Amino acid sequence: FRTEDEQTEDYLFKIVLIGDSAVGKSNLLARFARDEFYPNSKSTIGVEFQTQKIEINGKEIKAQIWDTAGQERFRAVTSAYYRGAVGALLVYDISRRQTFESIGRWLNELHTHSDMNVVTILVGNKTDLRDAREVRVSEGKALAEAQGLFFIETSALDSSNVGVAFQTVVREIFNILS
Ligand code: GDP
Ligand code: MG
Repeated sequence: FRTEDEQTEDYLFKIVLIGDSAVGKSNLLARFARDEFYPNSKSTIGVEFQTQKIEINGKEIKAQIWDTAGQERFRAVTSAYYRGAVGALLVYDISRRQTFESIGRWLNELHTHSDMNVVTILVGNKTDLRDAREVRVSEGKALAEAQGLFFIETSALDSSNVGVAFQTVVREIFNILS
């Protein structure tokens, strides 16, 4: 016989955070999973992954969100990091154009190591740094459209759109699978 527990369907989606060093990947995860922010975070705060429950259409989904331990500084994120990923947040810092220019390289790496169909959202983080903006919203939107990605701008500092960014990916994966 089956217990009530066994009858509930289980969804576990692996989602990876990628993008240049210091764009705010670890803080986006800290804000989303624990509602915390680290003003002077070092790359060492990264945990391997964090599992977060998200409800979509009344179904409980577990998002297993992977963060780097800072190895992106050495351009050496391993294939194990990407293995089995069904979603990705591709993050840049709107106040550092260089991090936006790296997006193409991250996209190549993602597609080398994971399925072409991995649901990806382009995330322009640090919108609170209004006066230091170097990448226009329209540029982010245009790149996302050209590459077939979702797009959002966030701030891990003031929390804006952080939940929406993760939920967009999870909802789309769920829609594809169901
Ligand atoms: P990672 O290397 O991509 O994981 O970046 P971190 O999450 O470690 O963040 C790098 C630095 O940017 C830290 O000093 C954070 O406090 C800061 N940071 C992260 N997100 C934001 C944000 O949304 N706004 C601002 N102003 N700073 C941020
Ligand atoms: Mg980090």
